[in-house]
Amino acid sequence: MEIFKFGGASVKDAGGVRNLASIVSERGGRLVIVVSAMGKMTNLLEKACEAYFRRDGRVKELFDEFRRFHEAIIDDLFPDARDPARALPREWLSALERLLDEEPSLSYDYEYDRVIPFGELLSTSIVSGYLAANGLDNRLVDIRRYLISDACHRNANVDLDISRERCREAFHFEDTSRYVTQGFIAGTRTSQTTTLGREGSDYTAALLANLLDARSVTIWKDVPGVMSADPKEFAKATVIDRMPYKEAIELSRFGAKVIHPKTIKPLQNKGIPLHVKSFLSPASAGTVIRDFDEWIPLPPVYINKENQLLLTLTPRDFSFIAEEKLSHIFATLARYKLKLNLMQNSAISFSFCIDHHPALLEEFVRELQRDYGVRYNDNVRLVTIRHYTEEMIREVIAGRPVLVEQRSRTTAQFVV
Ligand code: ASP
Ligand code: MG
Repeated sequence: MEIFKFGGASVKDAGGVRNLASIVSERGGRLVIVVSAMGKMTNLLEKACEAYFRRDGRVKELFDEFRRFHEAIIDDLFPDARDPARALPREWLSALERLLDEEPSLSYDYEYDRVIPFGELLSTSIVSGYLAANGLDNRLVDIRRYLISDACHRNANVDLDISRERCREAFHFEDTSRYVTQGFIAGTRTSQTTTLGREGSDYTAALLANLLDARSVTIWKDVPGVMSADPKEFAKATVIDRMPYKEAIELSRFGAKVIHPKTIKPLQNKGIPLHVKSFLSPASAGTVIRDFDEWIPLPPVYINKENQLLLTLTPRDFSFIAEEKLSHIFATLARYKLKLNLMQNSAISFSFCIDHHPALLEEFVRELQRDYGVRYNDNVRLVTIRHYTEEMIREVIAGRPVLVEQRSRTTAQFVV
């Protein structure tokens, strides 16, 4: 059994859905197809959810944009107004419209997890209907009943034991060889919907692979594989054809956007290979990520993490930045759910880089200011070069002032 994951860019219009069907039709054998919301629909739903929660008048307008986007795709794929494939997407649209008409509760995160999943519910109902209409028999699985999580809304934790049992019942392959299901969303035992964190569909694909003992996972992207840099930024970027799990997990943590950082662990734990391939050129080999017996040479890989905040803390009483101070700083970061992207300390200063969230930040900085003098640079970027060469560093840094520099044997990082 294999898992295919199609992200928003691959199903951004009717042509994308047709292309998905053509990729799927080429593949015999058992297949689970994980789909995320179409195009940029999750971003649009986030705006709609905010408007709904604040009860501002824009809800209706944003919902209409969401509805029109999907209706155009549905009209294109199912031109006959009586086509039964239109029924389920229409039901989801009405359900969302009714929800946005209700009074929101007091919890934003709870409401978020009620609104945002409609992107995936719509995309999978359209994809499943289109495949069936074109002779590609399949079952649509509402993953919320089988992938079971806690109620930590917007960043739910999946319970692997219960989910394994349930998923094995759902994906039994007795009456079909294909399933279509939603990425990114899950459900609690009491049937509340949850989400797994933005861009979480890759993670869903990896979890299902782990739970169902898949032979492999393929993520279909608009790039030809994992690349040595973002080709939009770096014309010389090349595709890396083979990569060990360990390297992939490091790259995604350093900010390479090609795969979600949580994707690798469930696959590595069961030795399931991950393929990253282009939906624009499905016959090309792309990248395979797995364990290799031999050493794999890797080119320098350049990763640019934008919109960073560099903070430098100096204890007000001139005491050393030692273990106690560090543990206090780490505890504060954890409380605000901020992730350290880089850190460096000296006797009486501690510098670190985090993703810039203006709202959170004010409170966070105010809290630190009680004990520390705080200096910061916003709008900086964190540049990482894995397997660096001096030449690559010169090229990347050229002319930009470096605020912090750090090098290990394999990795060089610069805040610029
Ligand atoms: N649709 C969700 C998002 O855009 C999940 C995903 O794309 O993986 O965050
Ligand atoms: Mg997406």
